[in-house]
Amino acid sequence: MQLTTPIEQLPNVGPVSQRKLKKLGIKTVRDLLYHFPHRYEDFSNLIPISEAPEGGPFCFQGEVTDIKNIRTFRKRMMLTQATIEDKTGKLKVMWFNQPYLINTFKKGTFLCVAGKITTKGSTKYLSNPAYEKIPDFAKATANEPENFNNNLTHTGRLIPVYPETEGLSSKWLRFIVKPILTKLKNEIIDFLPQNVSKKYGFMPFKRAIWQIHFPDSLKLAEEAKKRFAFEELFELSLFVLMERMKLAKEKSVAISLDVNLIKEFTENLPYRLTNAQKKSAWQILKDIERSRPMNRLLEGDVGSGKTVVAAMAILNTARAGYQTDFMAPTEILAKQHYKTINDLLKKFDLNIGLITGKENYYRNKKISRKELLEKIKENKIDVLIGTHAIIQDTNLKTKYKTPVQFNKLALVIIDEQHRFGVEQRAKLCRQKQFIPHLLSMTATPIPRTLSLTIYGDLDLSVIDELPKGRKKIITKIIQPKDKKETYNFIRKQIKEGRQAFVICPRIEPPKTAQDVPIEQLSLQALSWMDVKAVKQEYKKLSEEIFPDLKVEMLHGKMKSEEKEKIMRDFKNKKTDVLVSTSVIEVGVDVPNASVMIIEGSEKFGLAQLHQFRGRVGRSHFQSYCFLFTDKEGIVYNRRLRALITCDNGFELAEKDLAIRGPGDFSGQRQWGIPDLAMASLTDVVLVSKARNDAKEVLQEDPELKKYPLLRERLKEFQERIHLE
Ligand code: ADP
Ligand code: MG
Repeated sequence: MQLTTPIEQLPNVGPVSQRKLKKLGIKTVRDLLYHFPHRYEDFSNLIPISEAPEGGPFCFQGEVTDIKNIRTFRKRMMLTQATIEDKTGKLKVMWFNQPYLINTFKKGTFLCVAGKITTKGSTKYLSNPAYEKIPDFAKATANEPENFNNNLTHTGRLIPVYPETEGLSSKWLRFIVKPILTKLKNEIIDFLPQNVSKKYGFMPFKRAIWQIHFPDSLKLAEEAKKRFAFEELFELSLFVLMERMKLAKEKSVAISLDVNLIKEFTENLPYRLTNAQKKSAWQILKDIERSRPMNRLLEGDVGSGKTVVAAMAILNTARAGYQTDFMAPTEILAKQHYKTINDLLKKFDLNIGLITGKENYYRNKKISRKELLEKIKENKIDVLIGTHAIIQDTNLKTKYKTPVQFNKLALVIIDEQHRFGVEQRAKLCRQKQFIPHLLSMTATPIPRTLSLTIYGDLDLSVIDELPKGRKKIITKIIQPKDKKETYNFIRKQIKEGRQAFVICPRIEPPKTAQDVPIEQLSLQALSWMDVKAVKQEYKKLSEEIFPDLKVEMLHGKMKSEEKEKIMRDFKNKKTDVLVSTSVIEVGVDVPNASVMIIEGSEKFGLAQLHQFRGRVGRSHFQSYCFLFTDKEGIVYNRRLRALITCDNGFELAEKDLAIRGPGDFSGQRQWGIPDLAMASLTDVVLVSKARNDAKEVLQEDPELKKYPLLRERLKEFQERIHLE
């Protein structure tokens, strides 16, 4: 067995598990070993049964002397009751809904069990404990008492608990991972260059990988974790630096800044640009003047006005005779951009095209996809707007025969889609002599250390002020007792002509005491649960609360035409209240909406709550954000309180990081960053160390000839990002 061995070749990993693992991106032994536990359960406290106090967790070893299944009356639950005895006494043990255990633990089996002790009357019992069979009680404790936990995996030691996954329990992962660790004992593996490892006194790989999964102490686990965090940050830095080196060798078209044109544009706007908008636009336009490809991120809070900045770059590029490709994450947003860009650039008579799954537009007229594609190819389109999915899909052949092919593409703008821009560009740049400039836009504020890691030290524009005249959004926590009054207030707003959004929370699957979901829910099933939540909320609002108003709902399982109609109706004020899931449409612009209700608000992260809130307050109307919660006492929740006092997305992102820790940072998956690297981003020192070491290694050996393992690893990394 090697690190590169595919999971299909592992014993005990069947097709179902293989599929689940792959969904998590785990394809090889290496991926599996780098799927690290996020915490440990301390089951190392082995005590004699007679000494068991209440609480715990404690661990006991003994013989099963009695076991039976009982059906409980009221809950129709199956209860497995067993007695375990050691030399000092008897212990009652109970498991719920695992009746098959009776076949596993026959009388006379020796078990190690671990969990918390509860007392009921005069009986102490252990409820739903972790368990594993041990070969022989007498041997385990009498002969080698100090070594008793060496062969234990699920009890009797610090037990790894892995992040909740698609029906893959921690117990199962432990069962699979441990034999692999034993088998790999004699392989010499280390991704870190030796001098780097030595400089920081890191544990060698072999010891570290063992200690992070099955640690001897929390201190050692922590040490191992730090080593792997460094490794991931180091690799990430290498990757980013190498991509930058590649990019620096490429050429783009230099498009000179037409100052008069830009002046004309800004003078014709219905508002004055904020200083932050001006500065960002200037930075972008100056970048494009160079033949070195731009790689810039435009970061700006929701509603800060990024689109108009993009429009300036588009205009300047079009007048120079080059094309822009403007990509949005969803069709609704693509259409919104199409309309906005048309309005903003009306005076300049550009050829603006929209490509969607159904219809295609050119200069505000419907045309066939074939015609549109021809126009793109012949440079008769200055700006093409569409979703990433459609424009980048090189497999369109199945449906439409030809993928999108530009003729003089000089600028790519990506809205609200993160990850590594370099790859996005690579897909688009099948052109002759040059590759396009890239501008990514995001409203997700990125913690500083993260942008340092991904973007290095350059190319970031920030719009850190909102347009003038916006009123501060009034944010309030609404407890159950205040709901009625709030609904009345909302009705009044609507009677005054405003509109309201209602967000329903994502539904979490129920869990048992052990870390196995009760029903092994797939993602598919989960999103159906979300739909159900939306439908329920819709029913409640339309029938009980606002029977006199026009309520509509929007969820991910609707057809796209249906979704669009509902959004259109809402924008055109045909609907008063729109209920939707949290996953739907970031960035929709409905200036007339003045109320945002977030149900179950305590379930969301700060960054996300702030995003939702940003959908209102986009005009001169006073706007409101109501954080509904079913939990009394949540008024003291630090996160929600932070939201009330703070309306700046960047400050909130830093606060979020401080309150929740970076592991929960909402953008993680989006950015495609390894978990541990992500979790270590608050460690500014570690981040910059990793970056400096990566720089040094590359200076000395740009192609990593001396580090074949590392080179191999980066290739994998790149392939993975390619596929995303
Ligand atoms: P976001 O940065 O979230 O993408 P948008 O570009 O959608 O923001 O802009 C939000 C709203 O603010 C739009 O209705 C836009 O017309 C308006 N807007 C943009 N810049 C200004 C400005 N300088 N002054 C007033 N309103 C502005
Ligand atoms: Mg936007």
